[in-house]
Amino acid sequence: MVNNILTGGCLCGAVRFEVTAPTKWCAHCHCSLCRRAHGAAFVTWFGVADEQFRFTAGENDVSWYSSTPAARRGFCRSCGSPLFFTSERWPGETHIALAHMDGPIDREPAVHVFYDTHVDWVVLGDDLKRLGGPSGTEPVD
Ligand SMILES: [Zn+2]
Ligand SMILES: [Zn+2]
Repeated sequence: MVNNILTGGCLCGAVRFEVTAPTKWCAHCHCSLCRRAHGAAFVTWFGVADEQFRFTAGENDVSWYSSTPAARRGFCRSCGSPLFFTSERWPGETHIALAHMDGPIDREPAVHVFYDTHVDWVVLGDDLKRLGGPSGTEPVD
C-alpha cells in the first residue's frame, strides 16, 4: 500500500520534499535534454500539481536553470542530484524524477515519450506505448 504522502530527496539529503497523492502521470522520457541533464539513457518522471508539492528541507539548496527558454530544471547545489522540471507547456505542474523518491508512488510508468530519440545501448523489455515526434507524445510507428 502506498501512503497518501510520498517523500523524496536528493543524494546528500540537503533537499527533502513531499508530495500528496494522487500524482497526475508517470512516464519515461528519452529526450536528449533529459538524457544529458541526468547522465542517463532516459529519465523517469512523474507530474504533480504544484499545490500538492512542498519542500520539507533545503528549498534554498535547489539551483534552477533554463534548459530551454520555456523550461527550468532544479538540482541540489550540494550533490548535483537532478530533481525537478517545470515548463510553460505544463503550467501549474512540477515534474519530479522518480528515482529520487524514497519508495513507490501511486502509479507505475505508463509510456515512453520522445522515444524516437532513444539511445541504442539500452534494450527495453516492457510493452509500454512508445511515443515521439516534435512534441514527444505522438505515435511514431
Ligand atoms: Zn543534495
Ligand atoms: Zn525529457
